[in-house]
Amino acid sequence: MANKKIFLNESEMPTHWYNVVADMPNKPLPPLHPGTRQPVGPQDLAPLFPMELIKQEVSAERYIEIPEEVRNIYKIWRPTPLMRATGLEKALDTPAKIYYKYEGVSPSGSHKPNTAVPQAYYNKMEGVKKISTETGAGQWGTALAFACAQFGLECEIYMVRISYDQKPYRKIMMNTFGADVYPSPSNRTQAGRNILEKDPNSTGSLGIAISEAIERAVADEQTKYSLGSVLNHVLMHQTIIGQEAVKQMEYAGDFPDIVIAPLGGGSNFAGISFPFLQYQLQGKKDVRCIAVEPASCPKLTKGVFRYDFGDTAGYTPLLPMYTLGHNFKPAAIHAGGLRYHGASVICSQLLKDGLIEAQALQQLECFDAGVQFSKAEGIIPAPEATHAIAQVIREAKQAKIEGKEKTILFNLCGHGFVDMQAYADYFEGKLEDHHFTDAELTANLAEIEALQPA
Ligand SMILES: *Cc1c(COP(=O)(O)O)cnc(C)c1O
Repeated sequence: MANKKIFLNESEMPTHWYNVVADMPNKPLPPLHPGTRQPVGPQDLAPLFPMELIKQEVSAERYIEIPEEVRNIYKIWRPTPLMRATGLEKALDTPAKIYYKYEGVSPSGSHKPNTAVPQAYYNKMEGVKKISTETGAGQWGTALAFACAQFGLECEIYMVRISYDQKPYRKIMMNTFGADVYPSPSNRTQAGRNILEKDPNSTGSLGIAISEAIERAVADEQTKYSLGSVLNHVLMHQTIIGQEAVKQMEYAGDFPDIVIAPLGGGSNFAGISFPFLQYQLQGKKDVRCIAVEPASCPKLTKGVFRYDFGDTAGYTPLLPMYTLGHNFKPAAIHAGGLRYHGASVICSQLLKDGLIEAQALQQLECFDAGVQFSKAEGIIPAPEATHAIAQVIREAKQAKIEGKEKTILFNLCGHGFVDMQAYADYFEGKLEDHHFTDAELTANLAEIEALQPA
């Protein structure tokens, strides 16, 4: 009988991150300065990020070494297990073989610490005292709070108001790791005050919270800013997931035909899939990589490939990406980590070039899948992760119809233990599907046409 779990020893943990840019046929377009519309240089980014991360952001090196201090902290939870989803296979009566990589064993319960730790490390090395950031549902804030605690850095977090009110336990986790957490929009920044003036009861958004965190970092020389997704260096840090999985699949004597992950900004999708996509880009093996987004925030399937801001106030450089417009307000679905208006530049370019696929799914199908997975495998997935599971179930059913033995790998990017209110709402019938209309898009997209380079 096949093994249920495939573990790696600590000594087998990858020593380098993989940078997919080295193998991309079309390289990512440069971010542009919103004033000059010229590519941004390192000096433009220096107030926000330590130089080492800026170098990684523009690097085309295939492999970048993981510092030993970072690897030592990774050992708290890495290497993470690869599991064969035998229970789910049985429940679906499918000829498909299903594997998942489980990132929920980390200190914050998701993949986010894979980048929070190196980001805190490089800031510490360059003498930074405090890191400011935003968080939606609280996963990123928890991860960065933990990472800052490891290096004795202060951590200031702007948490989207609606989550601040609805998810008190996430806030307490951040406080436990020593971070200060403020509901966003707040009175602490101009960006926040501008929003509150127009709408005192604003429930906030990720775009607003990013503006607030950036403003704080720019205002104080000792403070830098940190982003938990979207940027090239963040995606690269996450590739430790897929590199471990490549080895584990090898031990299982298998290689995936399909790799699936949910996509908010693109970091966990990149993390699991790029080390497999490398085989395809180098002409060694074929693999379908599928990014799954919520139907209520469908930038990959309904958005446009344009230059747009990463935040609401327009403080970030202009990024060439699939976007719904930086003023797009996604419905209040429970997969908070997937409610972002854009997708990372690298994922966007790969999608444009037909090298990866995208699928948008409704939240009720996703929660159905999450509950089925919980019963079959004993792990309650984060609402974001249920998007991957729903797509896995679709593929496994298709394999049954075709009578084909396919191998499917997905990223179980986090557990849902701090998201039980989402499951409660689902069981009480309070969740609805969201039928996206083009009217929601038109105004927001018209707005960004003015931002395009000549
Ligand atoms: C943040 C988060 C996501 C979405 O972010 P990506 O950068 O797209 O990975 C998905 N799942 C979980 C559990 C998260 O915490």
